Amino acid sequence: MFREIKKQITLFNVLILIAFLIFFIALLMFMWRWTYVNFSERFLVRTSQSIINSEKYDGRKAARYDGYSSNYEYILWDADHHAEHMKIFNASLILRGHELLQDKKFNETFRDFEVNHLTYRVYSKRFKKGNEVKTLQIFQQVNNERAFTKTVFVILLFFGSAGILILIPISYFLAGKSLRPVKQSYENQKKFIADASHELRTPLTVIQTNVEVLRMKEDEVLSENIHWLNNISSESETMSKLISNLLTIAQADNNRLIFQKKLFDLSALCAEVYDLMYDFAKQQDITLKSDIQKDIEFKGDEDKVKQAIRILVDNAIKYTNAGGTVTIKLTTTMRSIQVSVTDTGIGLSEKDQKKIFERFYRVDDARHREEGGFGLGLNICALIVKQHGGKIVIHSELGKGSTFTIILPKYSL
Ligand code: ADP
Repeated sequence: MFREIKKQITLFNVLILIAFLIFFIALLMFMWRWTYVNFSERFLVRTSQSIINSEKYDGRKAARYDGYSSNYEYILWDADHHAEHMKIFNASLILRGHELLQDKKFNETFRDFEVNHLTYRVYSKRFKKGNEVKTLQIFQQVNNERAFTKTVFVILLFFGSAGILILIPISYFLAGKSLRPVKQSYENQKKFIADASHELRTPLTVIQTNVEVLRMKEDEVLSENIHWLNNISSESETMSKLISNLLTIAQADNNRLIFQKKLFDLSALCAEVYDLMYDFAKQQDITLKSDIQKDIEFKGDEDKVKQAIRILVDNAIKYTNAGGTVTIKLTTTMRSIQVSVTDTGIGLSEKDQKKIFERFYRVDDARHREEGGFGLGLNICALIVKQHGGKIVIHSELGKGSTFTIILPKYSL
C-alpha cells in the first residue's frame, strides 16, 4: 500500500516538474525570441530609415550606423515597380521582392519567408520622394537566429529532461522518507488493534464458557452455581479495565485526553496511594513503606498523577515475591520533584527496560497473564508523565529489584 502511495507521490512530483519545465522553457524561448526578433526588426527599421535618408541610397553609407553592413540586402523600387537601387547577394530575392510589391497591405511590416533554403525577414516601406512613391524592401537573413534558437531550445530540453531523470529517484527516496512516520504510525495502529482484539478475546471466551455452563445447569439452584457467576463478574471487570485503558490510550493518540491541571498537595496524594495499597501489599506478604517529604505541591491533573503513581506501586507489588519490600518515596531537588517506587522484586534486564513502555509488552507473557496485566500500565503512566512535562527513569537489576522514578518539573505550566 505504501509502495503505491510512494509511487503516486513520485509521479505527482515528476508531473509538476515536467509542467514547470515546459512552462520555464516556453517562457525562456518566448523571451529569447522576442528579444532576438525585436532586435532584428529594430535594426531593419533603422537601416531602412538611414537608406531612405541617404541621398544616394548607398547601402554602405547606411550601414555605418549599425555595423551590420553585410547583414542585410535591399531593393528600392520606383513607382513603376522597377528596381532603382539594390544591394543583393541572392538574386532570387529580386523575384520575391517583386511578388511582395503586389501586396498593397504589406507596408511598414515584417514578413519571414524562405528562398533557396535560406530564411529571410523582410521589411517594406513605402515613401514619397518628390512626387514619386517608392518602396524600399530590406532583407535580412535569419538562418543563424533560427539555428541559434533551435540550439538553445535543444540545450534547455536536454538539461531539463536530464534534471528530471536525476530527480525521479531523489523524489522517490524523499517520498519514502516523508512517508516513514505515517507508515510507522499506521503499523502501530494496526498492531494496537490486533493486540487489543487478542486481549479482549480471552475474557470474552471465559464469559461465554461460563454462561454455557450455567445454561446446562438451568434447573439447579443459583447459590450452588455462584462460582460460575463470580467467574463472569471477574472477567467482566478485567474487560472493563482493559477497555478503559484502551480508551485512555486512544484518546491520548488523538490528543483528546483531557488534563485538568491545578495546584495540589502531591505529598498528600502519595500518602493516599500508600494507604490505598497498603492492605493489597500485605495480602501478598509484601511490606509497603513510605518516605514522603511533606508539603510538596505540584500543578497538574491530580487524578491522572494518582493513576500514574498507582500503576508503578501496583507493578512493584505484582512483580515482587512474598517477603519483599516496596517503598514509595517523594523528594524534591532544586528544579524537580521526584516520585520513586522501589521494590526488591524480580528486576528487569537492560533489554526489557527499553521495551516495557511499549504497548502490550510483557516481559514474561505466561507469568504476567496470571498477574492480570495487559502490558498497558506503563504506557499510560508514561503518557501521563509526558503530559506533565516529566519523564520516567528506571534503575533495575535482574533478581534484585527495580526503582521507577517519575521526575516532574518543579515549576510546571
Ligand atoms: P502489566 O499490566 O503487564 O504490568 P505494564 O505496562 O505495567 O503492564 O508493565 C509492562 C511489563 O513490565 C510487565 O509485564 C512486567 O513484565 C514489567 N514490569 C513492570 N514493572 C515492573 C517491576 N516493578 N519489576 C519488574 N518488572 C516490571
